[in-house]
Amino acid sequence: MGRMPAAFIGHGSPMNALESNRYTEAWAAYGRAMTKPTAILAISAHWFVNATAVTSAEHPRVIHDFYGFPRPLFDFTYPAPGSPELAHRVAALVDPVWVGLDEDSWGIDHGTWSVLAHMFPAADVPVVQLSIDAAKPVEYHVDLGRRLAPLRDEGVLIVGSGNVVHNLRAMTGDPDVAYDWAQRFDDDVRDLMVARPDRFEDLTGHDDYPRCAPTADHFLPLAYVAGLAEAASDKPEVLVEGTTMGSVSMTAYGLAGDAA
Ligand code: ZN
Repeated sequence: MGRMPAAFIGHGSPMNALESNRYTEAWAAYGRAMTKPTAILAISAHWFVNATAVTSAEHPRVIHDFYGFPRPLFDFTYPAPGSPELAHRVAALVDPVWVGLDEDSWGIDHGTWSVLAHMFPAADVPVVQLSIDAAKPVEYHVDLGRRLAPLRDEGVLIVGSGNVVHNLRAMTGDPDVAYDWAQRFDDDVRDLMVARPDRFEDLTGHDDYPRCAPTADHFLPLAYVAGLAEAASDKPEVLVEGTTMGSVSMTAYGLAGDAA
């Protein structure tokens, strides 16, 4: 079967689900270029809780976890099936790390569906979400990423969805602005990711880290891709790069696969 790619996508505004721009076009092209996965394991910034869990429902709910956006976004749906099999596989794979099986408290949130709507518009690939344990240090997330590596050889696409820089307080209304500190951190993350993803933990000591990741929710999905890179002795490549609204990085990374 070969090895599936793995990716981190900078998802930005939920409106990207409905819009077409250079980022969403890059996501769509990336999805079209790969072998169709048997299932997708998504690690979204928006399921940031005090536990590691996977969605295990046959038909996960589509969650509209935001407010103040236009009606069409609330009407948007992404009716992908779940995969209880993949949920159980994840739990077995990372043992002795404990993973809860979540039947109905969560589902597919906009961090996942705003991206998958472009990558796999037919919504016909089963999707499982893995939560991000907010109480755990960055090392835990890199390690968990490492442990998930065998899934890539089982036809599973692993997608982290967040933003390398995500500071909503500092955000401006101008899509074409990048604050110097946001750009600097995004550049330094890129330089490390493409050369030394095994040094991922160093990034939390970067001078700009507190301003770029005032909460770690959007940053941590990238830790899983760093762990996957390390497990494969491989280096991610940049899929698309940029900063918008001053303080939101849209940069995305991919690990190449060789699935035929
Ligand atoms: Zn988000």
